[in-house]
Amino acid sequence: MDRNEILDWLREEDASRLAELFRLADTARREAVGDAVHLRGLIEISNDCRRNCLYCGLRAGNAVLQRYRMTADEVMECVNKAVEYGYGTVVLQAGEHSAIEAEWVADLVRCIKGRTPLAVTLSLGERTLEEYRLWREAGANRYLLRFETSNRALYERIHPPLPGKRSDRVALLRELRRLGFEIGGGVMIGLPGQTYEILAGDLLLFRELDLDMVGVGPYLPHPETPLGRERSTFEAAAGEQVPNSEGMTCKVIALTRLLCPESNIPSTTALATINTADGRERGLCSGANVVMPNLTPPRYRELYEIYPGKACVTETAEMCRDCLRRRIAAIGRTVGTGPGARRRCAPNLQTA
Ligand code: SAH
Ligand code: SF4
Repeated sequence: MDRNEILDWLREEDASRLAELFRLADTARREAVGDAVHLRGLIEISNDCRRNCLYCGLRAGNAVLQRYRMTADEVMECVNKAVEYGYGTVVLQAGEHSAIEAEWVADLVRCIKGRTPLAVTLSLGERTLEEYRLWREAGANRYLLRFETSNRALYERIHPPLPGKRSDRVALLRELRRLGFEIGGGVMIGLPGQTYEILAGDLLLFRELDLDMVGVGPYLPHPETPLGRERSTFEAAAGEQVPNSEGMTCKVIALTRLLCPESNIPSTTALATINTADGRERGLCSGANVVMPNLTPPRYRELYEIYPGKACVTETAEMCRDCLRRRIAAIGRTVGTGPGARRRCAPNLQTA
């Protein structure tokens, strides 16, 4: 699929043509990764962040947010639940902060890998290569770092660098791959300033980077952020701005599946937030094969407010497990067992 075909699909509005796209993506999903939906237990270990991304409610400049950091014991309680519930992976996610010490994370990873059969995914933002190496050596398997947009000018506008440093998430993803991590990238759909051309470039970059995991969800405005407050001043011209809709998100999931057939693609909580009735299922039927049930203790969960109105914020870990299992069964799919690593069709590309 080339750039023009991608653009045509992104602008397609005919319902029967779109049904065909979703059917093609669903078939590609079944052939490449099967019917299993892998469950990745999400633990939001801290909402502290040193950055000021213009879109995100955890940004350092949000003074009204009460900050928290879980203790290692609290994290291990969630990890034990992941084992009990039969999940194959835990994802440790947080804002980006040096107060989340690299050694502390490495100890936690060693503890999880020593005591459980779980795969460990980290999503802790932009850190140094030494820190990434330390975590890989401690046994972490995967790293999620969405590059947010492939367009440099837009990236610089919405993701200001730390003083005196250049931010380049695409370069970091390549380094993470070299260190032996499975790598995950992605973008928000309908980010103000995101044009159809830019989004087509994002999709091509998923393929170029040969991502093992691709996460896409709708951009959701947060009132305590510059983008949330002045969204219209950042938006592209009418007809060029990508909408942050459910339909557009499912389209991008489908195109991602066709471009990166073997990748693990989650049906995200952001998608479930804009359609609480069946957003998860829509994602899973458009090419996704992963869901991330939340394991974060409820008292912290509501403080991890990347965007407002997040789905499942008052649920317990047990409720998330039961709800997602029910939704997976209802669409005739099965729950994956084991770590659910990325499969590769070409054996010469096998990574450790
Ligand atoms: N601090 C880490 C991980 C937490 S943020 C990092 O930045 O990588 C995880 C993801 O949430 C971000 O990559 C971004 O794509 C998404 N996100 C942030 N703000 C959002 C918003 N307002 N709406 C939807 N998704 C958002
Ligand atoms: Fe921090 Fe990540 Fe939010 Fe940016 S997106 S402000 S790095 S938590």
